[in-house]
Amino acid sequence: MTRWWTTDETHDPARTSWVDSANGHADFPIQNLPYGVFSPGDAPARIGVAIGDHVLDLAACAQSGLLPADAATLCGEPALNSLMAAPGALRRALRRQLSDLLSAPDARAQVEGKLHTLKDCVLHLPARIGDYTDFYVGIHHATNVGRLFRPDNPLLPNYKYVPIGYHGRASSIRPSGVPMVRSRGQRKMPDADAPVFAPCARLDYELEMGVWIGPGNALGTPIPITQASDHIAGLSLLNDWSARDMQAWEYQPLGPFLAKNFHSSISPWIVTSEALAPFRIAQPPRPQGDPAILPYLLDPQDQAHGAFAITLEVHLSTAAMRDQGIAPVRLSSGPASNMYWTIAQIVTHHASNGCNLNPGDLLGTGTISAPTPDGYGSLLELTDGGRTPVMLPNGEQRSFLCDGDEITLSARALADGFTPIGFGECRARVLPSP
Ligand code: CA
Repeated sequence: MTRWWTTDETHDPARTSWVDSANGHADFPIQNLPYGVFSPGDAPARIGVAIGDHVLDLAACAQSGLLPADAATLCGEPALNSLMAAPGALRRALRRQLSDLLSAPDARAQVEGKLHTLKDCVLHLPARIGDYTDFYVGIHHATNVGRLFRPDNPLLPNYKYVPIGYHGRASSIRPSGVPMVRSRGQRKMPDADAPVFAPCARLDYELEMGVWIGPGNALGTPIPITQASDHIAGLSLLNDWSARDMQAWEYQPLGPFLAKNFHSSISPWIVTSEALAPFRIAQPPRPQGDPAILPYLLDPQDQAHGAFAITLEVHLSTAAMRDQGIAPVRLSSGPASNMYWTIAQIVTHHASNGCNLNPGDLLGTGTISAPTPDGYGSLLELTDGGRTPVMLPNGEQRSFLCDGDEITLSARALADGFTPIGFGECRARVLPSP
């Protein structure tokens, strides 16, 4: 069976854009065309598509009759929810039209006036996020963190049967660039008799991917694993900021709460499932001896094509580094395929009890770490629970984040014979606790 994620002319590496900055652009060549919501200056928010150093105003394109009629109405809204809810055929037709408009020289005169310089635009959340759920599918992260608490038994017995997750908080998700205020809360140091209420002393980031829900499902109607990909509109980067001292004190018995919900940062561009078609790879095989996947989560097509050839990176710059003109230092780099479950499996599992997923809902994968320290996706792992600080080029060191630190997540998808595409940045700076 052929799935809709086959490639077409929009992925052709020979296709170029008359927007010069798009050709060879690290993130946004014409083969990408990610959607976002932006404001040019003080103007109202509208849907746009990133192309090189510019963003194309889709609301303006719709008004000028440049888009397919059924997509035009959806592109006039100030959020992507309706477009995400649209059938795959509509989304693919819109992508084809945008690719044609931005590559055909004879379209330039009609389209050029609807471009804005990206750096002059304000980027908003791409959708009204009704619900946010965070999973825990990064098996090396789960093992590393588990080992800190249970050296002999890092993974709990359910891990290889259930895509573990918890319901997060949508209200505190912010786009890249919005500063993160250090949280305050209860913490109890192991040798203390009682907790204190204070600013977080073990502030951390978590490198994750965000999965945007497309059409979704009605309450009571699960999403079969064979159809899960139809319900994934695209991916972004997600930084699940974490207060480790508060997490350790509060997480039992019901799991993460205030240690996680004070702020989550996302990259504002949704790289669509269509754009990611060339970068699908096989899900890494399970280690010998692992339990078989339960039938409701098993689809041979998903096992063969359900992972992505995406490289993830984290960079840190401190206030002192910026003062000294020192470039951000890379903390880690690793493949996004270090996930025990595919994104289709987490969608299907989430809906398997009848829970309804809505267009624009956001799922986090959980922290994605490589097996080796150069690919660890959090400071908790990089510093072995704070015991071995990271050394920075100017002589500073970090066990956890200090005020003024800035974390930037980035990602690129790579495949032989195709033009690489990127996700843009997910960046935020730590502000002091009030
Ligand atoms: Ca997380």
